[in-house]
Amino acid sequence: MKTKVCTKCGKELPATKEYFNANKNRKYGLSSYCKVCKKIYNKKHREENKEKIKKWREENKEVIKEYKKKYTNELRDWYIIDLLTQDSTLTSEDIKQYPKLIELKKQEILLKREFNTSPNHDK
Ligand SMILES: [Zn+2]
Repeated sequence: MKTKVCTKCGKELPATKEYFNANKNRKYGLSSYCKVCKKIYNKKHREENKEKIKKWREENKEVIKEYKKKYTNELRDWYIIDLLTQDSTLTSEDIKQYPKLIELKKQEILLKREFNTSPNHDK
């Protein structure tokens, strides 16, 4: 039987998909890490990524805020859907089936904005 040495733990294991994940880019079409190592690697990688994302968010707080503001101003569909699901029992799936709801909500927001920014509006 063909065997393969895991480059991570150094164990010699049968070169089958039972022990190694499939990877088309690799020799024998198998990943260079054994399944056990791959699992550990993935878990570590995910945790590191989570930390990275958290750090990135911290460092880019202002950028993200601007970004959100921009989308809020543009009244993107997902933003409207979010609003609609917040103040009703509708789910985003329901709303997607009735695009008219999104349109109506958009118009409502635009009207409110117009009203709020109108100079004649008594605050
Ligand atoms: Zn291994």
